[in-house]
Amino acid sequence: MARVYNFSAGPAAMPVSVLQEAQREFLDYASSGMSVLEMSHRSAAYQEVIDAAENNLRSLVGIPDSYGVLFLQGGATLQFAAIPMNLMAAGRAGYIVSGHFAESAWLEAEKYGVAECLASSAETHFDRIPALGTIEAKSAGLDYTYICQNNTIFGTMYHELPRTGTTPLVADVSSCFLSLPLNCERYGLFYAGAQKNAGPAGVTVICVRRDLVEFGPVSPYCPTYLDFSKQLAKGSMLNTPNTFGIYLCSKVFEWVQAQGGLEAMGQYNQAKADTLYGALDDSDFYRGTAQRDSRSIANVCFRTPTPELDAAFCQEAAGQGLMGLKGHRLVGGIRASIYNAVTPEAVDALAGFMKSFELAHGSRSF
Ligand SMILES: *Cc1c(COP(=O)(O)O)cnc(C)c1O
Repeated sequence: MARVYNFSAGPAAMPVSVLQEAQREFLDYASSGMSVLEMSHRSAAYQEVIDAAENNLRSLVGIPDSYGVLFLQGGATLQFAAIPMNLMAAGRAGYIVSGHFAESAWLEAEKYGVAECLASSAETHFDRIPALGTIEAKSAGLDYTYICQNNTIFGTMYHELPRTGTTPLVADVSSCFLSLPLNCERYGLFYAGAQKNAGPAGVTVICVRRDLVEFGPVSPYCPTYLDFSKQLAKGSMLNTPNTFGIYLCSKVFEWVQAQGGLEAMGQYNQAKADTLYGALDDSDFYRGTAQRDSRSIANVCFRTPTPELDAAFCQEAAGQGLMGLKGHRLVGGIRASIYNAVTPEAVDALAGFMKSFELAHGSRSF
């Protein structure tokens, strides 16, 4: 079996042992005589699957009962609309615009109320997390303050969360979810598209403080599907959920726990990130695109001296089994996504390739 080193930003590498376990159970799940794919979501066997997924996540992250957990569809993008429709009670929210996905969420929220941009790093091409000093004052009176905690496209991450006073903090954690510890009680709501680090595409994990949604959505036009209070009451099964996706997520939660949990995962990921950022800092050929104090633990973005060499880099790397390194189409360059299932061995192979590529192409002056 020849598996490549997969640095894709999402859908992304999954733990091999999880894939193997799913393969073993594929035709006959827990002696049910059928695949999870074929099972009614109303069956007792499936109820056990989704309950286990929630319980595994609660114990892994440390989610108290005062927070509800949902497994919905529509990706992170549908949450850009669901969040204002459920949480904009007074019609006013604040957005910190630190990249493309934060900006998209902000623009979407403007359809449902007043969405203020509280801070932005657009002027410096999203190479950093904006300064957070004024956020607490600006958050006063808002329904929520919104952040995108790890900016997948630009390779930046919050190393501390903004203070928001009593205003709930809402976070898109899609690309750093389960990569490092998360203090649930700092958030009013956090959510993640699973395909970065928690499972396959088609599942979005949402964790919300119950008191924020107990009276139902604010918008009378909120689709029933996106009504968090109804979905919580129905255990994410108001309609047919992504049954197989949730089953795989549950296995990933178990796997992360078996690796030592989020604290251990954070150290493991920091060591991988240090390898790559070290390689960038040691070189005059490569240039990291994120400011040092904003560097992401999950997405390492860099460039060679020219776009042509960036393309050659990705092509030659693919020839050596290092896949998924092309930067997002909005920014170009090179991006290595080093989520939980990407091994130190893969990262070392990439660092080695970077050296040899520089030796071959770096002697010319640019
Ligand atoms: C990938 C990503 C999204 C978009 O996710 P979809 O599930 O494709 O809608 C949004 N936010 C962040 C931080 C992401 O990494």
